[in-house]
Amino acid sequence: MTTLFRKKYIIMCLLLLFIAFTNYYGHIVLAKNEKSNLTVHFLDIGQADSILIQTPNGQTALIDSGNESDSMYIQGYLLNLGIKKIDVLIQTHPHEDHIGSMDDIVYSFEIGRVYALDTDYDSRANTNFKEALKQKGYTISCPKIGDSFKLGDACFQFISPKKSKYKKLNHCSLVTKMKYNVTSFLFMGDAEEIAVDEIIDSDDDLQADVIKIGHHGSFGSTPVGLIQKVQPEYAVITARKNSKLLPHIRTNFNLKIFGVKTLLTAGSGTIVVTSNGQKIHMTRNPYKNTDSESLIK
Ligand SMILES: [Zn+2]
Repeated sequence: MTTLFRKKYIIMCLLLLFIAFTNYYGHIVLAKNEKSNLTVHFLDIGQADSILIQTPNGQTALIDSGNESDSMYIQGYLLNLGIKKIDVLIQTHPHEDHIGSMDDIVYSFEIGRVYALDTDYDSRANTNFKEALKQKGYTISCPKIGDSFKLGDACFQFISPKKSKYKKLNHCSLVTKMKYNVTSFLFMGDAEEIAVDEIIDSDDDLQADVIKIGHHGSFGSTPVGLIQKVQPEYAVITARKNSKLLPHIRTNFNLKIFGVKTLLTAGSGTIVVTSNGQKIHMTRNPYKNTDSESLIK
């Protein structure tokens, strides 16, 4: 047995134990995707991103895949929902907290298309991700601004990065807007500062009911101009518990003065949003199975 297959075998055994444990004790109540609803899951993996989208016709997209240590959690979450295939895998940018588990995802699931940046960013996670793609015979599509694709009845459009090169990798984040009938979502990756300013200055239709705030709510992630253009009802921030740095106080303040209902994965657990095409609904704390809701007061 090669080292690679031994590793995969051990991971699969641990996953089966994990799933059996969570099912037996019933502590994890996963939201089932109702047939007429589109569902977006913002996984609670601390200061890291992994967002699962399920369309009513059973297709799935996964935006990012957390740190390496989140692998079992993410795979268990997907398997518990009965997911075997990820139709679209998006890597917003190759920082560890966005692609750490992506090699395991590629090895464990059938993948349709892979969208990622054209970058040789040198890190173990990125090398492992590219090796996994090679082993499975998948290739990367590098989207251009304005490129779009359909997932069931949901339409995705890439709106950033606006330039091919930036000093900071966060600025290169693939930012996507998803529209499902009249409801819409904006996934900002780790976009901040100059990248966000360029998005604001563009002619893009940015209006969205839900915005996944860029770079875990950093200082430059959510200027007033962005909120004015997006006009979100809800903001989701992927953050860890008790972090003194993120989300930044300026981000919290800007969202608060515009009355945006803001939820942190740190306090809510995995946040599940459903859309019937006309209205969106925030499911209260489904993963932790408690009644708490972490709206910033
Ligand atoms: Zn990040």
